[in-house]
Amino acid sequence: MNPPVFRFAPSPNGRLHLGHAYSALLNEKLAREAGGTLLLRIEDIDTTRCTETLVQHCIDDLAWLGIAFEPNPRRQSQHMDDYRAALAKLDAMGLLYPCTCTRSDLARLKDAPRDPDGQPLYDGHCRMHGQGTGPAALRLDVAKTGASAASIWGDVILARKDIGTSYHLSVVVDDALQGATHVVRGADMEQATSIHLLLQTLLGLPHPIYQHHDLIRHQTGRKLSKSAEDRSLADMRAEGATPQDVRKLLGF
Ligand code: GLU
Ligand code: ZN
Repeated sequence: MNPPVFRFAPSPNGRLHLGHAYSALLNEKLAREAGGTLLLRIEDIDTTRCTETLVQHCIDDLAWLGIAFEPNPRRQSQHMDDYRAALAKLDAMGLLYPCTCTRSDLARLKDAPRDPDGQPLYDGHCRMHGQGTGPAALRLDVAKTGASAASIWGDVILARKDIGTSYHLSVVVDDALQGATHVVRGADMEQATSIHLLLQTLLGLPHPIYQHHDLIRHQTGRKLSKSAEDRSLADMRAEGATPQDVRKLLGF
């Protein structure tokens, strides 16, 4: 049997904080215990938010922590062709439709039921009435897939208007291309797994083993975010913390 492959996949749209360190260190530990490898993937498809400086900071912070990643991290922004190919496959199966609804059009959904991220479920307007003019996103026709668990997300966007792909599509394509056998990530991603499993089935890709860990919380119980009050790894480092201090603080 091939050795297991774990991965850590941060989105560098802010500085990394303790929550990222926890997830990376947990993956490192599980990979080591399983005699497997650990890959790094930089999820930088959103080039408006993930600047080159933040990408570099992310790589530097992880290097400072001394996490044993395999060389040559995958950068999503360099693999748009792979995402386009997957979209073409889903489109050929008749599972996608263009949606030209703008942010202001979508204001009509303010009282609609919500998806697990708290966003209103799309009402299927462009599926039923055809697309309008202007730039189009591509949505998954979830009813046509016959899926039930993933329907909590409604007709999710698989290709955003601005970047031509999406988190859900890219993560599934990359986990398969990188041969990830184990996906270990925060509990905030748990609900998204139903879409990922569905996309794997539709695209004929293997299902990795999923494990979702508790999020590191402040004493107040609030989820750590990249907002100003939460100390980043860089702040801690500037205050004199060592990588060993961070590992110890997080129980590694
Ligand atoms: N890039 C995502 C994040 O940083 C996580 C993706 C994943 O692990 O599936 O929130
Ligand atoms: Zn629409």
